[in-house]
Amino acid sequence: MSDHCNKTGFATRAVHAGAAPDPATGARTTPIYLTNGFVFDDPEEAADIFALRKIGFSYSRGSNPTTAALERRVTDLEGGTMSVAIGSGQAALLVILLTLMESGDEYVAASRLFGGSLGLMRRLEQRHGLKVHFADPTDPASVAAAVTEKTKAIVVESIVNPCGSVVDLQAISAIARRHKVPLIVDNTLASPYLIRPFEHGADIVFHSTSKFLGGHGQVIGGIITDGGSFDWAGDARYPLISAPWGDYEGIVLAEAFPKNAFAVAARLYGLRDLGPGISPATAFLTLTGIETLPLRMARHCANAKAVAQHLAGHPAVAAVSYPSIEGHPGKALADRYSPEGAGSVFTVALKGGDQAATRFIAALKLFSHIANIGETRSLAIHPATTTHRNMPPQERAKAGVAGNVVRLSIGLEDAADIIADLDQALAAAS
Ligand SMILES: *Cc1c(COP(=O)(O)O)cnc(C)c1O
Repeated sequence: MSDHCNKTGFATRAVHAGAAPDPATGARTTPIYLTNGFVFDDPEEAADIFALRKIGFSYSRGSNPTTAALERRVTDLEGGTMSVAIGSGQAALLVILLTLMESGDEYVAASRLFGGSLGLMRRLEQRHGLKVHFADPTDPASVAAAVTEKTKAIVVESIVNPCGSVVDLQAISAIARRHKVPLIVDNTLASPYLIRPFEHGADIVFHSTSKFLGGHGQVIGGIITDGGSFDWAGDARYPLISAPWGDYEGIVLAEAFPKNAFAVAARLYGLRDLGPGISPATAFLTLTGIETLPLRMARHCANAKAVAQHLAGHPAVAAVSYPSIEGHPGKALADRYSPEGAGSVFTVALKGGDQAATRFIAALKLFSHIANIGETRSLAIHPATTTHRNMPPQERAKAGVAGNVVRLSIGLEDAADIIADLDQALAAAS
């Protein structure tokens, strides 16, 4: 199936990749396999599956047929080798970091990231000794300067939440290659429709599927995809992947699974041991959402461009962060990586200051005042008092979320209606 699908276009694969009519019943959509356990043919098969000598379903904490269809589809769309679906985007980042590192290890991360990622990184450093060095992802020289001999990974977002800046993935992957560390890319705001980070040198990609992949704002989920590009074999810095697992008869994942050793390690340690699995019902809704991803992303981008262009000319607006509009300093980079548009999440700074920002949010009618992004509906929030409230105020300004800044996620409504709602709220706020 996926071989055939690899030859077809993106929209075709968004509908078909990784799924086929159910062999047991002929059901055309992938059934929701709500079962914890799977019956083994015989004790030998059970033993083989447990020892990784044979691939098969045993218990849904580690893998499940509905979830596996979602994993195959995202693997195909991203151009990776294997995916691990997981309970949330947060869990995806956590499992990636814990699969690669242990207490005392160090890594470099973008200073501009989704607020929850920054919070998780800080807490892991305080409580578990995973030391993070922050660098400006929009300035590859800053990333290069932050890398040392102790660095074990680099983490960035392809399109930065909340400002929508597009990151120069090729420049950052060159730094990662030079230091022989994996580049991890959070591709949530772009989705594989706009940017496929493996084509630009990423080694591991992850998503919050709660956003554009699911698309409807119904369910929380995450997914990790292995690009199969990093050479883990014999690299003692990553023992979970390159050293023998005593409780699996000494298996070395980098040797047994050379194309997807990272994904297997993330499944064994991240799902089997730690346990933050995704529900098959959630996987089903996410798989269904992905079928319309190309249509939705095209519309999200067209609407975001129209709205951003309008706001950039509005007298109450001090700045619009969306890079895909004429005259924006980030436009060249955005056009290079994401010619159709830099997604549909960006920020607007209001001339009226903090008060104007909160009054503006309160006056919106069509927009929902919500912490999510990437759904069919248009959404708005005030990051400084919500998603980014845990940041020290001076870091907040650096991350582009000062008190006068509002984050918008532009939905699929008619652009004229979205613009009319923003205009009336700006008038009410000033
Ligand atoms: C929402 C989000 C996450 C976290 O995902 P959850 O599914 O909410 O846990 C991670 N990264 C980015 C860029 C996000 O927008």
